[in-house]
Amino acid sequence: MEYTKHQYIGGKWVAGEGTKRQIINPANESLIVEVQEASREQTEEAVKAARQAFETSSWPADVQRRVNSLHQLADLLEIKAEQFAAAETTNTGKPIRESRLDVNDTVTCLRYYADLASSRKPWEKEMHDGTTSKVMEEPIGVCALIVPWNFPLLLGIWKIAPALTAGNTVVFKPSEITPVSALMFTELIDQCDFPAGVFNLVLGTGQPVGETLVSHPDVDKVSFTGGSETGRKVNEQCARSFKRVSLELGGKSPLIVLEDADIEAAVEWSVFGAFFNQGQVCVASSRILVHQSIYHRFLDGLLNKLQQVKLGDPRDEETEMGPVISAVHQAKIEKYIELGKEEGAVLLHGGERQGNTGYYLTPAVFTEVSQHMRILQEEIFGPVVTIQAFTSDNEAIELANGTVYGLAAGVLSQDTERAERIASRLKAGTIWINSYHTPYVEAPWGGYKQSGIGRELGPQGLSGFTEVKHVNVSKELQPVGWYR
Ligand code: NAD
Repeated sequence: MEYTKHQYIGGKWVAGEGTKRQIINPANESLIVEVQEASREQTEEAVKAARQAFETSSWPADVQRRVNSLHQLADLLEIKAEQFAAAETTNTGKPIRESRLDVNDTVTCLRYYADLASSRKPWEKEMHDGTTSKVMEEPIGVCALIVPWNFPLLLGIWKIAPALTAGNTVVFKPSEITPVSALMFTELIDQCDFPAGVFNLVLGTGQPVGETLVSHPDVDKVSFTGGSETGRKVNEQCARSFKRVSLELGGKSPLIVLEDADIEAAVEWSVFGAFFNQGQVCVASSRILVHQSIYHRFLDGLLNKLQQVKLGDPRDEETEMGPVISAVHQAKIEKYIELGKEEGAVLLHGGERQGNTGYYLTPAVFTEVSQHMRILQEEIFGPVVTIQAFTSDNEAIELANGTVYGLAAGVLSQDTERAERIASRLKAGTIWINSYHTPYVEAPWGGYKQSGIGRELGPQGLSGFTEVKHVNVSKELQPVGWYR
């Protein structure tokens, strides 16, 4: 990478004045690039640029310009898809096949929101008293968009596309450890027809860059994806000024395997659900609940399957699991594995480092777990899964709902009516029956309970970036006594 300037403010690349940071490839610990992050003052400059663009450019009012710009961006991204996928794999360690899916979904998301923008019409109705009511959705203003490191590009676009589509201006902050695809993406923005200041990029950590954005009086909306503890701080800060906020937070999602499920397929989905992106997925099915009558056959199948999982160089087309994101994160996951053993759970498989270079961990499976254990209650965000047995649907539902989280869940069964009955009682924002993980751009994504506030994707994702205005029109001036 040859970037010398790492912030994009008011339509110009600007050299950072904050911390210098080395960006590391987790697969081999080599240096990808050294970036210099934004200072507090530069972060404020980015907000100012976004404010100015919102107040003075044609962007908020010109739907057609927004539609065209988003489609232009999608076209450019599609041309460079393979470079983006390679960069995402280098920076995050995710297998190249998964990075390609991310880039594809990114293009789809840009196009979906561009098309949605052109099809949205204000609601209008003649009321019982002869007046006319119109309901409009307006842009909120300046939006701060903050994302984590596990899907740096895709999660960014889940915010950038609807925020821009709705007519807002934005300041985007990727995670400090995965800025590479954001820099590349900003280069594309620079080539498109966006007014200066509509999109701004700042690099940096939560302190000072993230906190400056969240507490800035000129930021009207914060859209945050990250851990629940950080989300709590963001929420508290926003509450002080009633700033609009949406939060996509952590999870501890259950996958329920009923007794009539095909065991081989259930094993495949369990491995995919729990270990996709090395388990570093907010919706990872990190708790597998299996009907008692098939528990042992399922476990045998799982252990057998895990022997065959290809863990290694994420650039290799055959690789199914790469390294975890960093040395610090690897150590955190290992601490949880030790904790699980101390709590009395049985580590049936994995949880070991592989190789001397890169942050590789073999997929870990815990059995003999109880609901109160921390390894079952807390988000580990790595390749660690717990397996529990149940004997009735009621018990499965109780176990599944028995954490503070409520992001996603899965049910595997040949009886889809029964699975849907179970789904109706699960407290989770997304539930897959007989599959797992696919995000559908047209359908909402988000959490119950402590997994978040608000929804991304779908029309709901766009509504999260709008203010609703009701205008009631009386054609003639009415006498005050007319009011009932
Ligand atoms: P994190 O909370 O540490 O950081 C997320 C982002 O917030 C980063 O950009 C970080 O720099 C920034 N940040 C940190 N402190 C901040 C502060 N005080 N104010 C403003 N910004 C601040 O999370 P992470 O470790 O990067 O990511 C992992 C977490 O993200 C997991 O908990 C995972 O479940 C969650 N996640 C949720 C979803 C979802 O859709 N619900 C998707 C992906 C990841």
